[in-house]
Amino acid sequence: MNVILAQPRGFCAGVVRAIDIVELALEQYGAPVYVRHEIVHNHHVVESLKAKGAIFVEELDEVPVDAVTVFSAHGVARVVENAARQRQLRVLDATCPLVGKVHNQGRQYAAKGYQVILIGEAGHPEVIGILGQIPAPVVVVRNVDQVEDLPFPANTPMAYITQTTLSVDDTKAVVLALQQRYPGIVGPDTRDICYAVQNRQTALRILSQCVDLVLVVGAANSANTVTLRTIAAETGVPAYRVAEGAELDRQWFQNVETVGITAGASTPEALVDDVIAALGNLAPLTIKTLPGREEQVQFNLPTGLIARSR
Ligand code: SF4
Repeated sequence: MNVILAQPRGFCAGVVRAIDIVELALEQYGAPVYVRHEIVHNHHVVESLKAKGAIFVEELDEVPVDAVTVFSAHGVARVVENAARQRQLRVLDATCPLVGKVHNQGRQYAAKGYQVILIGEAGHPEVIGILGQIPAPVVVVRNVDQVEDLPFPANTPMAYITQTTLSVDDTKAVVLALQQRYPGIVGPDTRDICYAVQNRQTALRILSQCVDLVLVVGAANSANTVTLRTIAAETGVPAYRVAEGAELDRQWFQNVETVGITAGASTPEALVDDVIAALGNLAPLTIKTLPGREEQVQFNLPTGLIARSR
């Protein structure tokens, strides 16, 4: 069996930064360090940080007063920031700077009097955080049908922003529908979909053209991972999302000569290796990696943490 790996795949700069923040907090402040929500959407990452002394909570009232507390990469609402101040928590904010940029854009549009539309997945933690950072009513739309249902007249001053982890093509269709209904609408086009998500989607489209089947490694609650599987399936090849090698089903690989593998932005490379090892139990493998875009992006740590030398 041939295995072809997409490039780039797996961890993005925002995920590396978020995990670094928890690990450095544990080193510099000692355990326990509290983390609100899964730091990134991957069970293996969470379990490995738990083993080092991180305690994961969903709400801040589970955190003792004065404790070191990390906000996850998805960002939080203002109300959460205020609650942390009231409880005198020592906060390290692992919100990805690219998510923070969307917060700022939304606040600026709202301050200028625009009705803000957020293209995103209602209920996703990033979307909840964005809504809670904008001090004005924001409407979430996910698809073209929901654009048609918007109640605002065509002459309403409108602006849109987007969740960072969407499909570029789906988002373009929603933006087009918004522009047709509201010709004066302003927004960032698809530039808010982050570089890592765009690069992984582009690499996957190239990969899909030269394989019989695609495996997307990552968690079911990772939005960008789920989007990758959908994109692969849209190209016409069978595509499966697996969290790890143990989830492979031998039946998928009948008459399959070449398997393509990619991984969501919150998936450690060790899980890709685990999937390759499981494939190796089915057949002898030849493995190659497609040439792809090199990512050099790095984000600064919050003040108060001292970076390790890499
Ligand atoms: Fe940040 Fe993009 Fe990574 Fe999300 S996928 S954490 S927006 S770099």
